[in-house]
This record gives sequence, C-alpha cells and structure tokens, in this order.
Amino acid sequence: MKIYLAQLSEDKEHVFTFRQEPKELDIDVPGINASSPVEIRAEALRIQDRLELAISLESRVTMQCSRCLRETEFTFTKNFRLNYSLTKQDTAIDITEDVRQELMLEYPLRPLCKPDCKGLCPKCGENLNEGDCKCA
Ligand SMILES: [Zn+2]
Ligand SMILES: [Zn+2]
Repeated sequence: MKIYLAQLSEDKEHVFTFRQEPKELDIDVPGINASSPVEIRAEALRIQDRLELAISLESRVTMQCSRCLRETEFTFTKNFRLNYSLTKQDTAIDITEDVRQELMLEYPLRPLCKPDCKGLCPKCGENLNEGDCKCA
C-alpha cells in the first residue's frame, strides 16, 4: 500500500483507497482470522515535508471465543492517524506495515463471543450459554 507523493498537491487532501487480502497483510493470529479483504481509506494531506494520513479501515473478522470456543464473525473498524516526515528522495510512502500494526493492536487478547459468555463446563465440556449441564 503506497501513497505516491506525485499524486498529492500541496495543502490539498487526496483520498486513496486500498483493498488488501488478509494474506498480503499477514494479520492472522491464532484464534482470529480476517474473513474478507481489508478495506482501507486514507485521506492524505501533504504539508511541506510532512505527510498526514487519516486512515479508516474495515474488515470482517472471525474469531474463536476464548471461553466457549465458538466461532463468531464481526465487522472490525478502526480510525487512526499516521504521520510521516518526507525527504527529498521520497517518491512514495509504504503504509503497509503501520496499518498492519494498528490493526493487530486492536485485536483482543482474549476474544469473547459476548461480554458475559459463560464458557464451557470444565467437567463435561457442555456450552453453558445453551443451558445448565447435568454436573452438580
Ligand atoms: Zn463464548
Ligand atoms: Zn458439566
């Protein structure tokens, strides 16, 4: 994902859109998988030797609940800003790695299908969200 500086005019906002396959972004971690391409929109503004980007990204994500192990799919969105200092040699700025890191930061360490997930019974393994099990 590159922002080509030649496409930017000074002090005028320019919108770039990208669509990245999860594989290209290398964003799958154990328990969490992107199930659609990641849509990225970047509003770029160049002010002298600075490049300011307002980024919004969206992706469908499948994750496994850390308590009941059920898979749930949800839409993941995030808005953030990136700033770059430009040198005379720069013709393009590659934002792939920064976008990847912002996305990964937002991933929950212990994903839950819902905040009050009851999880599985440690004895019989039944999903307690679906009702009580036979264990005392
Ligand atoms: Zn759960
Ligand atoms: Zn049980």
